[in-house]
Amino acid sequence: MQLLSIIIPCYNEEENISYFYDELMKNKDFFEKRELDLEMIYINDGSSDNTAEEVKKLHEADNRVKLISFSRNFGKEAAIYAGFKKAAGDYAVMMDADLQDPPSLLPEMFGYIDQGYDSVATRRVSRKGEPVIRSFFARCFYKLINKISKTEIVDGARDYRLMTRQMVDSILSMGEYNRFSKGIYGWVGFKTKWVEFENVERAKGETKWSFWGLFKYSIEGIISFSTAPLSLASWMGVLFCVLAIILIIFIIIRTSIFGDPTDGWPSLVCIISLISGVQLLCLGIIGQYLSRTYLEVKNRPLYIVKEELE
Ligand code: UDP
Ligand code: MG
Repeated sequence: MQLLSIIIPCYNEEENISYFYDELMKNKDFFEKRELDLEMIYINDGSSDNTAEEVKKLHEADNRVKLISFSRNFGKEAAIYAGFKKAAGDYAVMMDADLQDPPSLLPEMFGYIDQGYDSVATRRVSRKGEPVIRSFFARCFYKLINKISKTEIVDGARDYRLMTRQMVDSILSMGEYNRFSKGIYGWVGFKTKWVEFENVERAKGETKWSFWGLFKYSIEGIISFSTAPLSLASWMGVLFCVLAIILIIFIIIRTSIFGDPTDGWPSLVCIISLISGVQLLCLGIIGQYLSRTYLEVKNRPLYIVKEELE
């Protein structure tokens, strides 16, 4: 028998907990046939509803259900890390509690693991049911980050991934504070098979991500996996120096031929505001990296556990 650890981050998912469990158990025959023992690790990420109670009910009925409750909401990334840390399985898989990661794909995914892949990742081919503006910005983000980062980050990739022990250990070795899982999975490498599926809408409840939240998360991704914005600052510096030299030469020649006209302050104001804008932008970019470095150096724990159920 081999052990499969299923990691389920939950934040205010009371309506979905048992529903998810039932859907997962539809694969019971497959788990038996493939000789897989299960361990289901629910991470309660500081929910304010009855998520923990729902998991406890499940735990009473099935001792393979485990619970880690955080002392407050630390975010999905911290929950994923806690789950991987707890996972004892030969394989681990990360799944959302809202059934947007269909458990029915597991048999197919194991098929690829048995063919020798280290990890089987999923990506949704459509964004059906999602606001149009959100899809548009998501596409732009993936285009941009793949241009400026060496780590491949696949458009539409979900966190739903099945992986071997070896890959789990590699992910755990990346203990950074500012986490961006999609990048971390790509960065550790390993032979990955991509499985595609049509977008499934969330079973119950509402998404925990606001547009602003997603925007900040995308900045996190860019800063964690690319230093291109930093070199942008130096390139802009070079560009403006060259422009300034050309301007100086132009003005010297013009003055020596036509004398010194006193007008020209509007152009001066334009140039000053443009360049100070660029300077502030570059300073801001440096600030973004500096603040991440600051948080990283503090070396705070990624999460704090309040309660654990074995
Ligand atoms: N989640 C979490 N902590 C958070 C936000 C979300 O553990 O701070 C969990 C949530 O319960 C769900 C998964 O992460 O199981 C994905 O969240 P959601 O469905 O809201 O995101 P979406 O699918 O809309 O991207
Ligand atoms: Mg969801």
